[in-house]
Amino acid sequence: MVGNGLFDLTGKVAVVTGAGKGIGRAIAIALARAGVDIMAISRTVSDLNTLASEIRPTGKRMARYAGDISSIDEINRAVEVSLQEFGRIDILVNNAGIVIPQPAENVDEESWDKTMGTNLKGLFFCAQRFGKVMMKQRKGKIIHISSILAFTALDKHIAYCASKGGVTMITKCLALEWGKYGINVNCIAPTFIRTPLSAPNVNNPKMRAWILERTPIGRIGEPEDVVGAAIYLASPASDLVTGETIMVDGGWVAL
Ligand code: NAP
Repeated sequence: MVGNGLFDLTGKVAVVTGAGKGIGRAIAIALARAGVDIMAISRTVSDLNTLASEIRPTGKRMARYAGDISSIDEINRAVEVSLQEFGRIDILVNNAGIVIPQPAENVDEESWDKTMGTNLKGLFFCAQRFGKVMMKQRKGKIIHISSILAFTALDKHIAYCASKGGVTMITKCLALEWGKYGINVNCIAPTFIRTPLSAPNVNNPKMRAWILERTPIGRIGEPEDVVGAAIYLASPASDLVTGETIMVDGGWVAL
């Protein structure tokens, strides 16, 4: 066992929101390989079917809820399904997120509400509803997928940046209130990671050149780059870590 069990996740149950694509998918597969049963939440059914076929070889169970985490009713149903399937929840990876790039002067109400609905409201109410299960268990690990854009601005991303800035404070407030229940609440803040969400930036040659030049480590991230921090924050190795953000940013915010 690695590190005397410090990173042992065998037999745990993890909920992963936005598990159908990109970073959420990579974290769900990595957790399953580490011995964790997965409750996958995402909107696109075909993505969940593909994920199930990728998790099957690990021998771990995957249950699913195809729905929209910007609706509290849907979150409540996802909690019910999780408890029916597994009876408890040890880890929540609050990963689902969207971006709608717009210059600040053109941001419309619908785009603002959609962004906040998933990135801030959905993330908070997932933490609240799944967190209540953890409170009863007196133990749990909540991991928020934030962004470098919680800390640095990006042109045409004001709603996304504001939502991710809010995730930092949700993390700190929950860490403060729920430490007494044995619940750790932390963030991972990735840089540009090659996924469907980042494709318009990463596939734009001018933008990609700027990202590479701006990144000390000098490359675009892959979804698997985010997995190590997630395993750490899910595991006993991080039991005294809460309210914290781990940058997985190739040095972006250090500049
Ligand atoms: P992605 O490739 O677009 O995947 C996002 C996943 O979340 C998809 O499976 C999507 O499913 C699901 N999703 C989105 N909104 C949802 C909702 N309301 N309800 C349920 N599922 C929802 O995105 P990603 O790049 O992996 O991003 C994952 C997280 O990392 C996000 O929070 C993002 O802000 C953050 N992040 C990404 C990067 C990057 O460069 N990629 C950098 C920093 C932070 P459907 O589309 O099928 O609904």
